[in-house]
Amino acid sequence: MTGKDYYAILDVERDASEAQVKKAFRKAAREHHPDVNKENPEAEAKFKELAEAYEVLSDAQKRQQYDQYGEVKGFNPDFSDIGNFSDVFDFFFGGQGGQGGGRRRSRSQPGADLTTDLRLEFADAAFGVEKVIPLDRHEVCDVCMGSGAEEGSQPGICPDCGGTGEIRTSRQTMFGAFTTAYACAKCAGTGEVISDPCKNCGGDGRVLTKDTVTVDIPPGVTENSTLRVSQKGEAGRNGGHPGDLYIILHISSHELFDRRGNDIYCQLMVSFPQLALGTELEVETLEGTEPVKIEAGTQPGTEMRLKGMGIPNLGRRGRGDQIIELVALTPTDIDADQRKLLEELAESLGDPVSGKSEGILGRLFNR
Ligand SMILES: [Zn+2]
Ligand SMILES: [Zn+2]
Repeated sequence: MTGKDYYAILDVERDASEAQVKKAFRKAAREHHPDVNKENPEAEAKFKELAEAYEVLSDAQKRQQYDQYGEVKGFNPDFSDIGNFSDVFDFFFGGQGGQGGGRRRSRSQPGADLTTDLRLEFADAAFGVEKVIPLDRHEVCDVCMGSGAEEGSQPGICPDCGGTGEIRTSRQTMFGAFTTAYACAKCAGTGEVISDPCKNCGGDGRVLTKDTVTVDIPPGVTENSTLRVSQKGEAGRNGGHPGDLYIILHISSHELFDRRGNDIYCQLMVSFPQLALGTELEVETLEGTEPVKIEAGTQPGTEMRLKGMGIPNLGRRGRGDQIIELVALTPTDIDADQRKLLEELAESLGDPVSGKSEGILGRLFNR
C-alpha cells in the first residue's frame, strides 16, 4: 500500500467522474505548479503528489486497482517515469484538450499620443487666442473601417499560431515537459492575419492624413505649459481608442516687456530735467498707453508700478502688474545753446564739470 488517499489529495468524492477528476487536478495544479510557486519549497512536493493522484485516478484501470487494493501494481510513484509525466503536463498545458486560444490578445489596440510645439506671440499668451494647428496623424481608414481587410474579405486565421495568438515550446525537465508560450510574431498575438489587405491603407486599418486641430489658448499660459486635446492623437487599431494630442506652448519675447511670472517689466527713458522737475508721460502697456506721473525730484532707477496691467492669472481672476524702471538718459548730441545752459546749471549747483569751452583755467580767470 502506498498509504495515500488520492481522492483526498485531489479533493474529489470517491465516485467522482473522469471529468470531475480532471477538473479538480487542473484547479489544484494551477495553484501548486512549481513554476508559479518558486518561493515555496513545498509546492514541488505537493505538485508531485497531485500528479501522482491524477495519474492513478484518471486511468480507469489504475483507478480500479487502487480502489480494490489501495495500490497500483507496477506504478512507480518516485517520478523517475518522465514519459508518463509529459502526458500529464501536455494535458494540463494544452497539448490535448488544453485551453488553446485562451491567451489570444484582443486585436483592438489604443492609438499613440502625439505631441506638437506651438509658438505664441507674447500678447496672445497673455490674453488667449484661438489657434488652428496643422497636424499629420493616422485616421481610421474609411474604406475598410479600420479592419485592414479588402472589401468583401475577412481577416484569416494566423498560420503560424493557428489563431491562438501564441507560440508554445516544450522543454524536458525532471518533472516532464514544461511548455512556455510567447506572443506570435506573425500576427502580434492577435491570432489573425490579413490575407487580402485593403488597398487604401495597405492592411494597417489606418491612413496618414493631414488634419487640423483648433484650440482655444486660455489667457495667462506660461512657457512650456502643455494643453491636452482629447482623442486627437493617433487612431487606435481595430476599434481601439485614439490617443491624445499634447500641445507644448512656447512664448515669443516682447520688444518692450520682460515677463517674470505674471508681472511685466519695462524701462522708461527720462531726462534729468524731467526727473528734477516732474512730469506726466504716456507709457506703453499691453493694451495701448497709460499716463504715468513722475514726481519732481525722482531718482533714476526708481520703479513705478501699474497695478493690474500685467499678465492675467491663468484660470482665475486678477492680473499681474506692469513695473516701470526709470532710466535717466544723458544727452549726447547737444548744440551750443544747450551746452551753455548745462554749464550754467552745473556752475549754479557748484558741480565741477570738464569740457567747458574755456577750460578750467578760463573759469578761474573769469571769476
Ligand atoms: Zn483600409
Ligand atoms: Zn499568429
